[in-house]
Amino acid sequence: MFLTNLFNLKKQCFHDKITPDMEFGYCPDCGKPIRNEWYITRCACCGVKMKAMVAKGEIRPQNHYCTNCGSDEYIVEKLPGINFIDINFAALIKQEVIEDIRPRTTTQCWQEKTPAQPKLLIQFQ
Ligand SMILES: [Zn+2]
Ligand SMILES: [Zn+2]
Repeated sequence: MFLTNLFNLKKQCFHDKITPDMEFGYCPDCGKPIRNEWYITRCACCGVKMKAMVAKGEIRPQNHYCTNCGSDEYIVEKLPGINFIDINFAALIKQEVIEDIRPRTTTQCWQEKTPAQPKLLIQFQ
């Protein structure tokens, strides 16, 4: 158990060299493709922005209750990018890009869109 934990700790990279002003980059420490993702939290009740933070890998508001309406319900919103207003509220997640980022063919898409109906009509001859 102890050995496993130690191994996991060694493997863990925080991608510190991927700075918040980058949108995407390869981590010079571990070589993984990393995308910076920004999230804000909002009160689910009145929609007011709440300062977000990351706790145990989850995004949640810093305050337990909304300063505007007192609700403890919140929603997490992913930002398309970061700006000077949102940076005060946003939490940054350094997301490892796992999926293949090379462009793929769209063959599967148009095959699914083909309607199955014409086949049925032929049977009525
Ligand atoms: Zn890294
Ligand atoms: Zn509220």
